[in-house]
Amino acid sequence: MNRERSEQHYIEALEHIVGGVNSPSRSFKAVGGGAPVFMEKAEGAYFWDVDGNKYIDYLAAYGPIILGHAHPHVTKAITKAAQNGTLYGTPTQLENKFSKMLKQAIPSMDKVRFVNSGTEAVMTTIRVARAFTGRRKMIKFAGCYHGHSDLVLVAAGSGPSTLGIPDSAGITTNIASEVITVPFNDIEALKQALDQWGDDVAAVMIEPIVGNFGMVEPESGYLEKLCLYARQAGALVIYDEVISAFRFHYGAAQNYHLFPNKKAIEPDLTALGKIIGGGLPIGAYGGKKEIMDQVAPLGPAYQAGTMAGNPASISAGIACLEVLAQQGTYPHLYDLADTLTSGVQEAAEHYNIELTINKIGGAFSIHFCNHKIKNYEDAQNTDSELFSKFFNFMLNEGIHLAPSKYEAWFITMAHTLEDIHQTIHAVQHTFNKMKR
Ligand code: PMP
Repeated sequence: MNRERSEQHYIEALEHIVGGVNSPSRSFKAVGGGAPVFMEKAEGAYFWDVDGNKYIDYLAAYGPIILGHAHPHVTKAITKAAQNGTLYGTPTQLENKFSKMLKQAIPSMDKVRFVNSGTEAVMTTIRVARAFTGRRKMIKFAGCYHGHSDLVLVAAGSGPSTLGIPDSAGITTNIASEVITVPFNDIEALKQALDQWGDDVAAVMIEPIVGNFGMVEPESGYLEKLCLYARQAGALVIYDEVISAFRFHYGAAQNYHLFPNKKAIEPDLTALGKIIGGGLPIGAYGGKKEIMDQVAPLGPAYQAGTMAGNPASISAGIACLEVLAQQGTYPHLYDLADTLTSGVQEAAEHYNIELTINKIGGAFSIHFCNHKIKNYEDAQNTDSELFSKFFNFMLNEGIHLAPSKYEAWFITMAHTLEDIHQTIHAVQHTFNKMKR
């Protein structure tokens, strides 16, 4: 596959844009380097690059594009918003409508606030939790990504209940000392951390279904215990549902059928983003009334935004949710994901390639290993070189995946059974080449 123009654009980009990309996850560094593909157009389940190559897209822009690209209902809503002016700096009725839709779908949120990204949403939930509890520290889980604000860019210390170390230059050790990172799906490690630091923990923050080291579900009873222990310690529970909300059904992971005991796993605060913007920039956070009332102008915790709740993003979000609410949406995603993962599994057996597939609804991850993936360490301990080969061969077959072994594949409403069969063929060719 010729990608000469992408290569030229990349050389130019390297001169003007740091690293040639506007988000490091777009770089091909983790898959052997080289030019990322420069896209010209996207429609439905497909990308067309600047060299005229067509790809089936499983990146879905890292999650938001659940309806497929340029869905007519969303496009119409954005066009209407553009014609009416995209930014007012005043309230609109659209924001009322959208907040009611979100609250109805995610009943743990009595009140919401719109922001512009998942990063902002998460960052603010931490501030609000600290304002409400008067405490300083937070507990997070290794491998869960919560955006790029200072506090959540802190890695695990050397033991399960040691304080964190900065994960990025520019983050002070003071900030890192406010974060404790424990392994996911290890309730004893959390208990230990709460026993040691509990008096000063404002919040325990988790992706209730993980999307950032593959798709990983919590073990049965884990979230119940997490909520119980956090509350016994006087800490709030924050769910980062930036990936998981509206991913598996019409609602957040906290409302999903995987968790029969809804009340026992209900968070105090929830952070949202991605899908709820229908492809435009958005974030939102919400939670219990008495906690949300800490936020300005009602309370002492400050948070604001020039672009927050802008009519374009809100209109796209409403339109996206309207489509998702229709019958048949999620079953379509599930059925195609079932067919695709079965095909991949069969091909792996045929070509004798060891892999583990984690699938939840219409999203899944493929790990080159022979063990289960239940935490970050399991996901790290997989064959990166094999993934690189897989990624690059698949790209040349016209299948665009995320360039990282930790990212999920997302099926969209626009994928067809034919796309899935074409992808299975690509996987068969790829495994055949990988074996040579
Ligand atoms: N939380 C989670 C779970 C995410 O996956 C991401 C982004 N991948 C974020 C927060 C940050 O969102 P954004 O990139 O919109 O700032």
